[in-house]
Amino acid sequence: MAEPSYIAKLRQIVGSEHVSTDEEALVCYSFDATRFKAKPDAVVKPINTEQVAKIMRLAYEANVPVTPRGAGTGLSGGSIPINGGIVVSTELMNHGAQIHKEDLYAVVEPGVVTEDFQKQVEAKGLFYPMDPASQAACTVGGNVAECASGPRGLKYGTTRNYVLGLEVVSPEGKVLRLGARTVKSVAGYDLTRLMVGSEGTLGIITSVILKILPLPPSRKVLAATFSDVKKAAEAVTAIIDNNLLPSVVEIMDRLTIEACESYLGEKLGAEVLLLVEFDGTRNVCDEESARCAELIRGEFGSGVSDDIDPQRVALLWEARRSALPALTRRASSLVLEDVTVPRSKLASMIEKIGTISHNFALPVAVFGHAGDGNLHPTVLFDRKEGETLKQVDAAVAEMMRACLDLGGTISGEHGIGLEKKPFLKLELGKAGYEIMKNLKSLMDPHDIMNPGKMFYD
Ligand SMILES: Cc1cc2nc3c(=O)[nH]c(=O)nc-3n(C[C@H](O)[C@H](O)[C@H](O)COP(=O)(O)OP(=O)(O)OC[C@H]3O[C@@H](n4cnc5c(N)ncnc54)[C@H](O)[C@@H]3O)c2cc1C
Repeated sequence: MAEPSYIAKLRQIVGSEHVSTDEEALVCYSFDATRFKAKPDAVVKPINTEQVAKIMRLAYEANVPVTPRGAGTGLSGGSIPINGGIVVSTELMNHGAQIHKEDLYAVVEPGVVTEDFQKQVEAKGLFYPMDPASQAACTVGGNVAECASGPRGLKYGTTRNYVLGLEVVSPEGKVLRLGARTVKSVAGYDLTRLMVGSEGTLGIITSVILKILPLPPSRKVLAATFSDVKKAAEAVTAIIDNNLLPSVVEIMDRLTIEACESYLGEKLGAEVLLLVEFDGTRNVCDEESARCAELIRGEFGSGVSDDIDPQRVALLWEARRSALPALTRRASSLVLEDVTVPRSKLASMIEKIGTISHNFALPVAVFGHAGDGNLHPTVLFDRKEGETLKQVDAAVAEMMRACLDLGGTISGEHGIGLEKKPFLKLELGKAGYEIMKNLKSLMDPHDIMNPGKMFYD
């Protein structure tokens, strides 16, 4: 089949070496961390904003769909080019960050890997708290597009709280400069905030201005073990109710711990685990972790270690970060959810997940950022059984309804993409859904910017 004519023009814009159309390359850009797959017609790797703007102008004129892509670690199908067309990969826009220590901000290219950015700021005694479990691979641009977060949401919020400004190329190829380099700016509508979490459906992020903080001088981790996951969830509510603000409260249930133990070949010594971290001065860490340990021991009678040697802390963290890869080894397929409820409703949500698991006869592992009310119930199943997929979809739908009934949201950090499309209207209501769709049409009149995501046609 003849190559579409726009591909020759793409080569003129970025050079032939940065355009791929061969089968192997297309397959590599056809999936993310979900079950969805679709190949693009071309993958293009621009090196700067000017090239991105030219690519978008070309796509706009030729009416070709464009899917932005960071590292493809997304958990909602956002970077899958379901309508073919061009994948714009930001992997070459990764030239580190300009760090402005005296003003506590950094200007970062979208393809910079999150962990590399963190290391770069930490070398200067600074701190960027966003640390998704995928931080060794995912990009800053992908984090902004998904409004990613991670364990530290409880104390430090989400990516949204760190984005001061953005440079974005619009679907017509215009370069927009949004926000500011200051902590305050109320100059007009907050389009920066609109772009954060827009999942590549409104434009391509080509530069990010991120707020950074001074690095906390110390951290202290305590591990609390429980025999019942609901009790562990109640302990999370109690911690916060007692005016303690840990930087992290992570939960892992029995199924998750078993999976991690066999994945890492190490025993974790717990049935259900809460991993709690405090940061700040040494005195504050010691005092707050002691208060927290006493509370958990006293009210829940569980085992708490608050003097853990660094090796064990590293193991517990490794286990927590490996939860998803570890669970992928427990079944031929899985669906990972991202339900988030007000923290006081965590135990109720866990109870509902247990009932759904029982009613549908499907194992569901539960882990997540309990301090944020953000759980990742993971349904394990065997894809070969035709009926099971229907059961899984029905179980997931029940989970979405249960979390909304508890005043929660269907996605805390992974986004809507393809995975959550069927449920967005359920959360927003008709009027809210319509206004979002209208906004998308206004900003992307030809519907070329990551089409088919977030909304049903
Ligand atoms: C093992 C594992 C653990 C994870 N843990 C967490 C976690 O703890 N917290 C969390 O929040 N997420 C987590 N994730 C999900 C994922 O890593 C995040 O959503 C991450 O932000 C995606 O970044 P990426 O660079 O891989 O983006 P991609 O997957 O490539 O893209 C994600 C979305 O962003 C869009 N996009 C990417 N770059 C741009 C850009 N420059 N401009 C406009 N749109 C763009 C894409 O079109 C797509 O819609 C995890 C994933 C895995 C596989």
